Amino acid sequence: MPLAEFGLIQRFFSSANHNSTDLILGIGDDAAVIRKDDKHDYVVAVDTLNVGIHFPQDTKPEDIAYKSLAVNLSDMAAMGARPCFVTLALSLPESDEDWLQRFSQSFMHTLQQYGVALIGGDTTQGPLSISVQIIGEVAKGKALLRSGAQVGDRIYVSGHIGDAALGLQLLLQHNINTNDDHHCYLLQRLNRPTSRIELGKELTGLAHAAIDISDGLLADLGHILEQSSCAARIYLDQLPLSKAYGAVSSDPVHALSGGDDYELCFTAAAEQDEQLQLLAHELDIPLTCIGEIIEGTGIACLDSEGKAIEIHRQGYQHFGAKE
Ligand code: ADP
Ligand code: MG
Repeated sequence: MPLAEFGLIQRFFSSANHNSTDLILGIGDDAAVIRKDDKHDYVVAVDTLNVGIHFPQDTKPEDIAYKSLAVNLSDMAAMGARPCFVTLALSLPESDEDWLQRFSQSFMHTLQQYGVALIGGDTTQGPLSISVQIIGEVAKGKALLRSGAQVGDRIYVSGHIGDAALGLQLLLQHNINTNDDHHCYLLQRLNRPTSRIELGKELTGLAHAAIDISDGLLADLGHILEQSSCAARIYLDQLPLSKAYGAVSSDPVHALSGGDDYELCFTAAAEQDEQLQLLAHELDIPLTCIGEIIEGTGIACLDSEGKAIEIHRQGYQHFGAKE
């Protein structure tokens, strides 16, 4: 079996030596943290979208542009950071002016929406691939990390989860009915995920740990647990599923193991619940408690009777087993 994504990073790249006193956090979180000045830290991440892997060949250039930024903005949200600058590395099979016009217009529009500046990049010929590096800022020492979860914390997710995975499934099965509002909604959630920047910023004083759900809830919550050396119990009947999800599937697996929603999963002390519900109301984003942090390792998924249910799929992993 070849090494899968996380084993590969661990084996070949995680020993990168960093002796800079300005490096606060290196490999292993949603972004690296670097000291900026007495009041702020920089937060840096990079994410790539490849044709055929991250989006089907016939995806609209407007949607590709939006999503290439959204996935990076989402890593800033997961750190509680304010996004500031991006660089853009574009690999294009050909110089297609119509495609470029549509891509760049959507890219610039999204930058403007989030108050982010494009400050550089690279353009090359090759299979379609979009790589965005992002630099953000957070108050000194306040970045939200994967490593801060504590036994007794409640586990929350923002918004609804599983929609993007269901949208992708419908798309790949050529099952999209454009007259069906639920189908359109799921597809929209796949192509236009919302980055939870405002929520992330507000969580810096409230949450103990956070991650964005890019690969699937079980996989991404698993990263928090590994880095915080604890375990989780989650309640399957508490998972926040949208109306569209319910209309298309009765299987919770898409919400547990499907990626691409870019919602936040975070943990906070039980006493913060009231404050979090106020925040949910203020931002108009559901914040749902789906379980708690316990001692041990792994994730127990419990049904409404408290029975543990075995889930065989954790989430997406590059070079991992494909189903
Ligand atoms: P995310 O899903 O939040 O973008 P990833 O799961 O892609 O994060 O990556 C996990 C961690 O490994 C991150 O801290 C990322 O910066 C780091 N990482 C991934 N690939 C490499 C690499 N080739 N070299 C060094 N660090 C890497
Ligand atoms: Mg992330």
